[in-house]
Amino acid sequence: MRPQILFPLFADIATLPGIGPKTAKLVENLAGPKVVDLLWHLPIGLIDRRFSPTLATAPPGRVATVTVRVDGHIAPTSKRAPYRVRCSDATGAVDLIYFHANAEWLERTLPVGSTRVVSGRVEQFQGSLQIAHPDRVGTEDEAAEIATVEPVHPLTAGLAPRTLGKAIGEVITRAPDLPEWQDAAWRARQGWPRWRDGLASAHAPSDEAALSPMAPSRARLAYDELLANQLALALVRAALRSRPGRQVRGDGGLRRTVEAALPFTLTDAQRRAGAEIADDMAADTRMLRLLQGDVGSGKTVVALLAMLTAVEAGAQAAILAPTEILARQHFATISPLAAAAGVRLGMLTGRDKGKARAALLADLAAGTLPIVVGTHALLQESVIFDDLALAVVDEQHRFGVHQRLQIGAKGPGAAGAVDVLVMTATPIPRTLTLTAYGDMDVSRLTGRLPGRKPVDTRAIAADRIDEVVEAIARKIDQGAKVYWVCPLVEESESVDLAAASERWAALRRHFGDRVGLVHGRMKGPDKDAVMAAFAGTGIDILVATTVIEVGVDVPAATVMVVEHAERFGLAQLHKLRGRVGRGDQASTCLLVYAPPLGEAARARIATLRSTDDGFEIAEEDLRLRGAGEVLGTRQSGLPIFRLADLAVHGDLLAAARDDTRLVLERDPTLESERGRALRVLLYLFERDAAIKYLRSG
Ligand code: ADP
Ligand code: MG
Repeated sequence: MRPQILFPLFADIATLPGIGPKTAKLVENLAGPKVVDLLWHLPIGLIDRRFSPTLATAPPGRVATVTVRVDGHIAPTSKRAPYRVRCSDATGAVDLIYFHANAEWLERTLPVGSTRVVSGRVEQFQGSLQIAHPDRVGTEDEAAEIATVEPVHPLTAGLAPRTLGKAIGEVITRAPDLPEWQDAAWRARQGWPRWRDGLASAHAPSDEAALSPMAPSRARLAYDELLANQLALALVRAALRSRPGRQVRGDGGLRRTVEAALPFTLTDAQRRAGAEIADDMAADTRMLRLLQGDVGSGKTVVALLAMLTAVEAGAQAAILAPTEILARQHFATISPLAAAAGVRLGMLTGRDKGKARAALLADLAAGTLPIVVGTHALLQESVIFDDLALAVVDEQHRFGVHQRLQIGAKGPGAAGAVDVLVMTATPIPRTLTLTAYGDMDVSRLTGRLPGRKPVDTRAIAADRIDEVVEAIARKIDQGAKVYWVCPLVEESESVDLAAASERWAALRRHFGDRVGLVHGRMKGPDKDAVMAAFAGTGIDILVATTVIEVGVDVPAATVMVVEHAERFGLAQLHKLRGRVGRGDQASTCLLVYAPPLGEAARARIATLRSTDDGFEIAEEDLRLRGAGEVLGTRQSGLPIFRLADLAVHGDLLAAARDDTRLVLERDPTLESERGRALRVLLYLFERDAAIKYLRSG
């Protein structure tokens, strides 16, 4: 239950003064639906209205607050002409300009003969000074109120800055003085304010320096957010770890058989990862390990060997894939190897129904089926294992902490002592690994597999698309398979689809029915059929929207064409390129761009050409785009931070991790005074799902 002290912050924004239903919609789209969302909506700039020159010294283009006498009103002579209010001080004159003016209101606000304090951007127009639509107009008594530093918050069309400003002011007033969750010595050393003070000053920057992400108030808030993130992950991990584990040790028999059946030898990196996993499984604590490596870096074999360890020990193993295609791919890859060792393998997806499904479930429950590959379908309550010892979760960023826990609970007994191995195919920078997985144990598969050649990567302007078509025609004659990826045009899938369909039709005119099309809207069986024809013999060119990003292994595919490559992020391009160069043939990646190429796109392409190390590319992506964008892409599945910017606050993240570790060592159930404050912090950042693991642990 959310602590009472936080109730005001989790009220609807519509409860704020000046926020009617219409404005509420705007604010909700801009910041979020709750009062607390406005707290996190920090200013991005400021307007210094303290600058109060005389009219003669007011520099054009700058915001100033001037004190003037109103000399006269000039009503517009035509509909399009503005209303003018003539004003002056001892040094000069200025016209206040209003389009679509309300004359009555202006006469009331700016009566002739009165003295008024006016703030706005002073402009020079046809030799005279004017202020168009002054931001503020008041009496001399209101001068102090007007001549202040005003924060500039991110806005949205239709929302007036003052409406938003007022709402945020109210929110800060409502913010309770929360118990301090930061370590006192640490906070003193950093010179950071208390939470409420930090919030107030972050929203009221006094100068440009206060807008810096490293300014004390902002750094404090960022740290709070990172601390909540790290603490939540650590609690989940501790809960998984604290449940009794079991020692799973095989005799190596099945593993030796399978290794001997492999058409290659394992790399050092694969062996190292395999040994780390086997050690974890043999320990009497629960494994929670991340296996990280590029697409095609050889994770599947490592996972299979781990699963065989479980089978050798007489238990069961499951591998959970994010999509149907991937589940089938894993099944196809693993089947012959499992068969070589005489191990039965089953598959369960949402598509399996009726008798076949019932038979499979019965075999899992009876323990006669040792390994199962599947999708989310494996998480259903009806899926019961006789003795699940290892769950491999192939995340590709589509699962989260909860799936890890759900499958981890499918072991025998109430505690469900399942070892969990999480695989990710997108190398992410170290800092981001920490935000998504916390302080999890990590095995990394680095380096290229033996026999793999680097992919020849080239950038080509879109007006040379005919040459691209000719080039792929030659490649196809030599037996090559070609991926042709169409860009993300907008957020809308139907628009993306139109672009892909158009390209498909154009290529079909050239290549006939050897061209296939896959996209996200297709039904599973249809998609699989096209993929199968591409992997087999029917299709040579596969036009795709980015669905193949999580796609399948087609060793004969040696050409990757990416249209509008400038619209893809670095990591995305790298991932796409990883679809080719998987066999022993030389491969090519053609990045087709719409000129002129911007600076950022140029940098991305240069990076891709210079390296194929996914980890290096991921770090560069973070540097080029900033964490906001790396994290912000919706399909990334990574946490999105409101206050912390990992490109700047990377050190704070590491500190938050260490802090978390110390706290939980001393106070694992968060019962101390600081521990109780930390619980409030978790609720504040809506990481309260983690709190229930405190009790169930
Ligand atoms: P990932 O799961 O990391 O995307 P895979 O395990 O699917 O990668 O491996 C990609 C391809 O490389 C597969 O065809 C696999 O058989 C092959 N492969 C795996 N390990 C090796 C190795 N040590 N040497 C050569 N080829 C390998
Ligand atoms: Mg694989």
